[in-house]
Amino acid sequence: MTESTAWICRTCGNQAAATPQPPSNCRICDDERQYVGHQGQQWTTLAQLVIEGHHSEVRELEPGLIGIGVQPRFAIGQRALVVSTPAGQVLFDVPGHIDSAAVRAVRERGDLIGVAASHPHFYGVAVEWSHAFDGAPILIPEADAEWLMRPDPAVRLWSDTYEIAPGVTLVQCGGHFPGSAVLHWAAGADGRGALFTGDTITVVQDRRYVTFMRSYPNQIPLPERAIRHILDRLAPYPFDRIYGGWWDSVIPSGAREAVHRSAERYIRWATGGADPETYLGSDTTSA
Ligand SMILES: [Zn+2]
Ligand SMILES: [Zn+2]
Repeated sequence: MTESTAWICRTCGNQAAATPQPPSNCRICDDERQYVGHQGQQWTTLAQLVIEGHHSEVRELEPGLIGIGVQPRFAIGQRALVVSTPAGQVLFDVPGHIDSAAVRAVRERGDLIGVAASHPHFYGVAVEWSHAFDGAPILIPEADAEWLMRPDPAVRLWSDTYEIAPGVTLVQCGGHFPGSAVLHWAAGADGRGALFTGDTITVVQDRRYVTFMRSYPNQIPLPERAIRHILDRLAPYPFDRIYGGWWDSVIPSGAREAVHRSAERYIRWATGGADPETYLGSDTTSA
């Protein structure tokens, strides 16, 4: 009998349901928001990642919050966020790698009461995390349920908003995916509130700004309506800090203003509100 393995896509880091042979294709990477690696579709396993020297990296980010990344970088390269509350811990945005050091870092801080993500690119090895914590609930938005490649009995579907623990709330914003979400942590940033945003709202290189895209690698924008919907969805939640999907994607303070400033700039350029002289040159603008 051939043993089955839950293969992990090398390009997006998402884990598929266990099969004896690797799947022929990755549903996530075949989608227009992602891409198949330039060497063709490739799969790996957790055991192989260990052989290749990948290991977890745990960093304290602020009181009650740690990040767990992968060294050397694997797949999309995001790091997870783990927020502690008196009711237990919540893991958000999962890389395609897990090891005993990562599990230990969470376990020594308490129970894991939920595994969630900003969107399907960051489901990673969510099921492995759930299994390591007695079947901790995996919270998947109903609108994106089709994208979880490894089904599991611990999956709980949600929509609109979902309070995982007091003051730790998933907010469905849509945009990048219909179920794209942020996690609002009311106690974050010394009580001013923090948002975990992944690709729902992406912190860009100029960290006074964020952006909003249907696809980041393929640079497909979103319509004005989607941007305004995201702002509407965030309106009830105070926040001053944003943790994006990567170690350096952080706006330490003034994040609410940054989101509004960025939305306004995006809409101005996308809808023809920008001054034509700034892209056509002054010679070409006369009637
Ligand atoms: Zn993939
Ligand atoms: Zn994405």
